[in-house]
Amino acid sequence: MNGSEIAWYSHEMCFWHDPGPGSGYVPVGPGVEPLRQFAVDPDLRRAEGLVKASGVLDRYTCLTPAPATDEDLLLVHVPEHIERVEALSALGGGDAGVYAQVNHHSAQAARLAAGAAAQAVRQVLDGRFRRAYCLVRPPGHHAEPDRAMALCLYNNVAIAARAAQRRGARRVLVLDWDVHHGNGIQRVFYDDPDVLYVSIHQDGLFPPASGLVMETGTGAGAGSTLNVPLPPGTGHDAYLAVVSRVVAPAARAFGPDLILVAAGVDAGGHDPMGRMLCTSRTFHAMTSMMCRLADELSGGRIVFVHEGGYSAWYQPTLVLGTASAIAGLPAPQDPFLHALDHLPGQRMQSHQRRVIEHLEARHPLLLRPSAGTGTVGGAADE
Ligand SMILES: [Zn+2]
Repeated sequence: MNGSEIAWYSHEMCFWHDPGPGSGYVPVGPGVEPLRQFAVDPDLRRAEGLVKASGVLDRYTCLTPAPATDEDLLLVHVPEHIERVEALSALGGGDAGVYAQVNHHSAQAARLAAGAAAQAVRQVLDGRFRRAYCLVRPPGHHAEPDRAMALCLYNNVAIAARAAQRRGARRVLVLDWDVHHGNGIQRVFYDDPDVLYVSIHQDGLFPPASGLVMETGTGAGAGSTLNVPLPPGTGHDAYLAVVSRVVAPAARAFGPDLILVAAGVDAGGHDPMGRMLCTSRTFHAMTSMMCRLADELSGGRIVFVHEGGYSAWYQPTLVLGTASAIAGLPAPQDPFLHALDHLPGQRMQSHQRRVIEHLEARHPLLLRPSAGTGTVGGAADE
């Protein structure tokens, strides 16, 4: 892979958004002294710096995204939501929803994040690039049509999927491996048979009681949602098994024209917000598997959009692992691997295997013998 085939989207202003006390710690008060918040978006600048210093960024064409237009945002969000984000940001701060603090720069950063995802999808569908990575903030997968949630202002990946449909993609697979459940993406496409949403997340983490195995879509979209809630402490082997035994067969049954990955790295083993054990090797391997799946199913068209990731020291290495795999390069050196790779949870545990076996036996999409039978809904009857 070289710069004529893969694109990198980032923008300095995405690093100026800061969700402040909405990012995990309770505000300073009795028993709480001032301290660093989890979600410090300038950390993403360090991630980009590592990808650059490693030479991996040289393999990409680096692009500056245009901000999302109102038309882009309205593909997913109601006008009142957009107005609320912009008004609060103009005032200098406030909560645009539920745990979704903004600062003066957030409205601009959020438009750039959504704009990058939409632009990446359009350029991949137009054939200018085969693969793309958007290193953007604020994240998006919790944002619902009418409200911001949990650091997410606009739903970048959902907007990109809708933009893809407008650009002629008939079927879009969205894989979300952020450690939290992407309730916002799920809600947008819950009744849409042409967008398959697959989420691999820590069971019961956030939002509470969201992303259960029995949430599989509704109406025409029945069977087009696939949740893989894994127990805390899940690591490398189980994540790769989910991709090969759940995601890949579901994708083959679905037959996407484009694959989108909500590529958070907060399932990393050093992340303060998750309790999973993934390493740079895990993200490198999952990314390679998804790129191969795109080559097999969607003409190679695949777009990765950054979501969560809150370890100041490990996030850059995990982004580098993802970026290296997209470029077809080997897994990078990982100075933090030794603290994680010997832990028992890196090998498949029986309680992790049971989640996979449950889905293999019950999810309508995994029961289908082959692709190309029209809508996802009704698959269990075939
Ligand atoms: Zn997350």
